[in-house]
Amino acid sequence: MSSDGIDLTVAPSGTGCVECDAAAGWWFHLRRCAQCGHVGCCDSSPSGHASAHAEATGHRYIQSFEPGEDWYFDYTTGDMLSGPELAAPTSHPADQPAPGPADRVPADWMQHVR
Ligand SMILES: [Zn+2]
Ligand SMILES: [Zn+2]
Repeated sequence: MSSDGIDLTVAPSGTGCVECDAAAGWWFHLRRCAQCGHVGCCDSSPSGHASAHAEATGHRYIQSFEPGEDWYFDYTTGDMLSGPELAAPTSHPADQPAPGPADRVPADWMQHVR
């Protein structure tokens, strides 16, 4: 894996998807940009902000931001990879549910995941 696109010194942007938090939305799983720390929602989420971020910025790697998961994904090749440990924290809090956040997930959320 290329060291371009990874910055081990950048902390994640927060505990939730940046754009969903701004729009009072909700997400299924979270992904973290390995270059700038942007936390966005996965492609199964209603809005897919992690992929939108990669497309808008050209930042090629994301790492799962789910507790217990450390895989990377490379948008350039479409491959799942393993890679170095990013700056802590490497996941959202373990007591934060997926989907989340708890107060914004609709009761029929399963009909909205992709
Ligand atoms: Zn989102
Ligand atoms: Zn980024």
